[in-house]
Amino acid sequence: MNTRTRFAPSPTGYIHVGNVRTALYTYLVARKHQGNFILRIEDTDQARFVDGAEELILKTLNWLGLDWDEGPNLDSTEEVGNFGPYHQTDRREIYLKWAKKMIDEGLAYADPYTPEQVQAFRDQAKAEKRAFLYRDHRPENPPEWQLGMPLRFKVPEIKRYSWQDAVMGELSAGPEALDDFILIKADGLPTYNFAHIIDDFEMKITHVIRGSEYIASTPKYLSLYEALKIEPPILAHVPHIMAPTGNKKLGKRDGAKSVTEYQKEGILPEAMLNFLAQLGWNDGTEQEIFSKAELIEKFSLDRVQKSGARFDEQRLIWLNGQWIRSLDLDDLYNRCEAFWGEESNNAKESYKKQVLALAQDRLKTLQDLPKLTNYFFTEPEIDEELINDNKQLRKLAEEERQNLLRVARQELAKITDWTPESIQNCLNGLLETTCQKPGILFSLVRIVTTWAQFSPQLNDTLALIGQEKTLQRIDNYLQK
Ligand code: GLU
Repeated sequence: MNTRTRFAPSPTGYIHVGNVRTALYTYLVARKHQGNFILRIEDTDQARFVDGAEELILKTLNWLGLDWDEGPNLDSTEEVGNFGPYHQTDRREIYLKWAKKMIDEGLAYADPYTPEQVQAFRDQAKAEKRAFLYRDHRPENPPEWQLGMPLRFKVPEIKRYSWQDAVMGELSAGPEALDDFILIKADGLPTYNFAHIIDDFEMKITHVIRGSEYIASTPKYLSLYEALKIEPPILAHVPHIMAPTGNKKLGKRDGAKSVTEYQKEGILPEAMLNFLAQLGWNDGTEQEIFSKAELIEKFSLDRVQKSGARFDEQRLIWLNGQWIRSLDLDDLYNRCEAFWGEESNNAKESYKKQVLALAQDRLKTLQDLPKLTNYFFTEPEIDEELINDNKQLRKLAEEERQNLLRVARQELAKITDWTPESIQNCLNGLLETTCQKPGILFSLVRIVTTWAQFSPQLNDTLALIGQEKTLQRIDNYLQK
């Protein structure tokens, strides 16, 4: 059977890492089996609808390279695929057709109760110390259902369900997990509970991969599948993403940013995919860096862990640094376009590329670029703190520092071919003549020529800054 998976987000706001991890796993299963990856927009909750949220979903998937075979289109209003429409609000007729069939078969009833009446049932159940269940209050003579009334599923058989989850293994729940639930709301739109089952069936979905918050409702869904004589798809519930510390789910406050925010901060899509894939999955080896192609090859649901996966942003940043290092210079350069500081606006492309080549190893996110490279484009301001913060340099008297710099300036000025090699030779010579350690001499020269916390190798840095500016910066400090 052709594998068909779907990512079915609701356009209710920002798209966080948990959503995207689900999308990734769903995508990987489809691609691994040369199947189809379908994007379906579950927009039936009008109250939670957020304008622009769908576009954000499409753009995020696009940025990550999670290309979908069927669903809405990023550049036009036309959808692609033979199983559409792919917006649930455009599928009303389909749900109504199924709803009517269920009414005819005695599987659904018009819910006649007002909210007050339901509250009274709840209070009564509470007073009698038993769980409130709709199925205990099925009306004897329900009114004939018409649009505008809620339509409720009548669970045909109250029993225990056991089922196999592709991630969680054998699961089961007793009859207490079963209750009559709403199929069509008073606004004429279906509930998620109803719509997704119909859609997955009509779209020939083979694997339903989603967050584990849906496990508790699964017995209800199984009951509905059974009532409709539909063979359930493979069910896979992926583990929660846990906050960096403690025993709670990752929330906005723990840095659960929207994926677009990471994009703006200069995280590469490759690093994001790599990171998300490993939030709850490993291939059983020590390998840490996975390309999308490798993930497609190696991913399998049976190696997704059952327990919550710890969110560790530092790991994302580390992976990002690894991915930045692996890019060839031109590729990296193209991706940096939006991240350069203003100072570099007038610099030539060839010079910027040289700067980037030096910074590449130190970049953790593209956003770090201005901080790491400003002094190549503009005159840095003297910041004595940097000297005072340096354990070795702060031990030297100002006088000693000045003397060292004077000697260094003198020797650097003698260089006739300003290349990294001759600069290195000169610096090595200075170590001998001054009897200083690199930790002192090189740090001092580095600081007064860059006034930055970090910089690439000193000889490379000075080579790119240029001889004139290097000497000028040393003078600036000596004369201050
Ligand atoms: N619209 C649901 C959500 O965003 C989809 C769940 C599912 O994949 O079935 O949580």
